[in-house]
Amino acid sequence: MSRLVVVSNRVTLPDEARAGGLAVALRAALAEHGGLWFGWSGKRVRQTSGEMHLRTEGNTRYAVMDLSQRDFDDYYNGFANRSLWPLLHFRMDLVDYSRETYAGYRRVNALFADRLVPELRPGDVIWIHDYHLIPLAQRLRERGIGNRIGFFLHVPMPSSDLLAALPHHRELFAALSSYDLVGFQTRRDLERFQDYVRLFGDGRVIDDGVLETADGRRFRGGAFPIGIDVPTIAGQAGRAMKRLAVRRLQDSLAGRALAIGVDRLDYSKGLPERFRAFERHLERHADQGGRITFLQIAPPSRSDVPEYQALRRELETLSGHINSGHAVPDWTPVRYVNRSFAHDVLTGFYRTADIALVTPLRDGMNLVAKEYVASQDAEDPGVLVLSRFAGAAQELPDALQVNPYDLDGVADAIAEAHAMPLAERRRRWRGMMDRISTYDIHAWRRDFLETLGTA
Ligand code: UDP
Repeated sequence: MSRLVVVSNRVTLPDEARAGGLAVALRAALAEHGGLWFGWSGKRVRQTSGEMHLRTEGNTRYAVMDLSQRDFDDYYNGFANRSLWPLLHFRMDLVDYSRETYAGYRRVNALFADRLVPELRPGDVIWIHDYHLIPLAQRLRERGIGNRIGFFLHVPMPSSDLLAALPHHRELFAALSSYDLVGFQTRRDLERFQDYVRLFGDGRVIDDGVLETADGRRFRGGAFPIGIDVPTIAGQAGRAMKRLAVRRLQDSLAGRALAIGVDRLDYSKGLPERFRAFERHLERHADQGGRITFLQIAPPSRSDVPEYQALRRELETLSGHINSGHAVPDWTPVRYVNRSFAHDVLTGFYRTADIALVTPLRDGMNLVAKEYVASQDAEDPGVLVLSRFAGAAQELPDALQVNPYDLDGVADAIAEAHAMPLAERRRRWRGMMDRISTYDIHAWRRDFLETLGTA
């Protein structure tokens, strides 16, 4: 069996406490094949030294490098997070493009390639992750690497007209053809990329899974919806009910229903729209008024980017506005909590919540939606209200699907969720649970690696 080399912007080292589902899956893949996980250490230094930090754990090697402050500003904070992130989430209006940060992005991808090449062996299968590293295969090919290389895009692939609005889009997105396999979260993402290849890349779609560039190179595209580790999360959720933080949340509800949202503070998550929709529910469904408390957990992220600071201020204003308009002495409708929680505590919060509000404007997948389902009590499951613009919506037709821009529609879905009979809740939950259990995080990584093996 070939050795596996995983490359991602951030590497989760073996002793890192907060290993999310993806880190667990990649570690499992590395343990199965033996291999190397390569990427940025997360540390910024004055000057990049060229030194790699190495660790070995079992049959897996970890190799990470530091970035200079300038590389971090241009590549990570700059082009990746201020140009590509908004573009790939359909937010052309928020794209902040500059040639300088694009040059930094290319520079750091070349640096990754320079550092990775000496670590590679013939026969290694290389799996590169996410939008930070789109040009990496091309840089490796230029350095003589002929190994099998796959790429997985964790975020959405937007419509081709949006991609085409990015300066130098051809150079950037044509680089995807240097991979043997390019994986997307959903079929819609794959189809939008196929459109781009036809309309703006002068390429052809040979058949559903095979694409051809203008100069005749063929490569594969596919949809691989990422999953979660269902038994682990279900087990965590059951145990978490005894935890003090979860018991205190339950006690504090005083018999009211709980609607929960858990999202990084990010403009793709549709938080202002969700707050307004909850307010609309209070107005449109006065008969349910005062019977549902909405808890939004929103840990700040990327707080040195101005758009994120503005969003934070907007949500503070909105939650204050809703509470001042609707609170009574013994109840406030919105609890807005601006911090992060350990994953196992969250599963207890999910299980406590009667309704989950997962209403991003765009999301590659949205793991919170799947985690909410996995955390429910089978006898008395809650209801998932899910944006149809989250990748997860393709797999979860049994959720109450909404258009997050339609505030009345979301408000009505909250009311429907609150009134939903037990039998219907169970039926919908069973459908969702079956799907996420079948194509779980391990099925995802096996499917991708098997497809890459035959690409
Ligand atoms: N999460 C967490 N603590 C928090 C908030 C979120 O551990 O306080 C986790 C959450 O359970 C999920 C992940 O962060 O596993 C977020 O993944 P998702 O796909 O929903 O969104 P992303 O942040 O990747 O856009």
